[in-house]
Amino acid sequence: MVVRSVEVSFHVKLREYTTIGIGGAADRMAFPRSPAQVREVVLAEGAAGREVRVLGAGSNLLVADGGVSATVLCTRKHLSKVVFLSDETVVVEAGVMLPRLAVLCALSGLSGMEPLSGIPGTVGGALSMNAGAYGQSIGERVEWVEVVDPGGEIHRIEARAIRFGYREAEYPVRGIVVRAGFRFVPGTRETVFEQMRQMNERRRSRQPWGERTFGSTFRNPREGKEKAAQLLERAGMKGEREGDACFSVKHANFLVNQGCATAADVRRLMSRGQSAVRVSCGVLLVPEVKMWGEFDV
Ligand SMILES: Cc1cc2nc3c(=O)[nH]c(=O)nc-3n(C[C@H](O)[C@H](O)[C@H](O)COP(=O)(O)OP(=O)(O)OC[C@H]3O[C@@H](n4cnc5c(N)ncnc54)[C@H](O)[C@@H]3O)c2cc1C
Repeated sequence: MVVRSVEVSFHVKLREYTTIGIGGAADRMAFPRSPAQVREVVLAEGAAGREVRVLGAGSNLLVADGGVSATVLCTRKHLSKVVFLSDETVVVEAGVMLPRLAVLCALSGLSGMEPLSGIPGTVGGALSMNAGAYGQSIGERVEWVEVVDPGGEIHRIEARAIRFGYREAEYPVRGIVVRAGFRFVPGTRETVFEQMRQMNERRRSRQPWGERTFGSTFRNPREGKEKAAQLLERAGMKGEREGDACFSVKHANFLVNQGCATAADVRRLMSRGQSAVRVSCGVLLVPEVKMWGEFDV
C-alpha cells in the first residue's frame, strides 16, 4: 500500500467480513477514515495497477474459496459519521449500518428509515443496489450521493440523476459511494420505534434469524406472480443442501451456512436450485447475491 496514513492489513480472511462466513483471503484490505482517504487509496492503487473492490457489511456477498487478488476497501470500520442538520436532513458516511441509522433517526424524532431498519447492510452497500423492504427502498429517501470515481474525483450526484430500480442503481458516474444526504420527515420517537419493532418482528417470523446467510439468493422474477422463494419451494429445493450449505426451511430463498460450508458448496447448491426451477417452473432465476473471485460452476 502506497498511502501511509491509511490503516491497512494484508492477507485478510474475507469469511470474517461476510455475514455468511465464507470466503478466501484478499491480498490487502484498506480501512479509510474519510472520503478523502478513499480518494487517496483509489489513486495510489490505480497508480500501482491494482484492482480496488469495495466492501460494506458483506451481507450480500459470496467470496470464492480462493479469495480475491485485489485491494478491498472496507467502509464499515471507520466511515461511520452521521450528522443531523436543522431541516430534517441527515448526512451519512458510507460505512454506517442501516439499523444504526434507523435508531439514530428514531431517537431524533425522524421517520422514514423504519422499513430499512432490519437490513444488515451499510448505507453504501444499500445505495449501490437500492436495498429495500416492505415496498420501500433507500433510493426513495436519498437526496444526493457522493461517489469517488476511478480517477479519484469526488462527485456529488443529485438523486434524480440516479436510476434506482428493483435491487439495482445506475449512477451517471461509476465509483465508490462515500457519503449521502437524506431527508426524513418529523415523527414521534414512540411511533417510529413501534413501527420498527413491528416490522422486525414480522421479519423474524418469516426469515432465518441469527443464522449465517447473505439474505436473498435470487432476485424475484419480473414475470409471473411467484417470488423466488415460492418457485424454489415448488421445485422441492427448500431444505436441500450441499455440504453445510442449505436452502433455509424457513425461507427457501435464504441460503444458510450451517457449519463449515464452502463457496463451492454454495455455488453448487445455487446451480441445482436454478436447474430445478427451470425444469419444474420454466423460470430462470438470476442471482441477487454478488460474487467475487473465481468459481467452477
Ligand atoms: C439476514 C439478511 C436480511 C436481508 N434483508 C434484505 C432486505 O430486506 N432487503 C434488501 O434489499 N436486502 C437485504 N439483505 C441483503 C443486504 O443486506 C443488502 O443488499 C445490503 O444493502 C448490502 O449492503 P452491504 O453493506 O452488506 O454490501 P456488501 O455485501 O458489502 O456489498 C454488496 C455489493 O455492494 C457493493 N458496495 C458495498 N459498499 C459500496 C460502496 N460504498 N460503494 C459502492 N459499492 C458498494 C459491493 O462492492 C458489492 O458489489 C439481507 C441480508 C441478510 C444477511
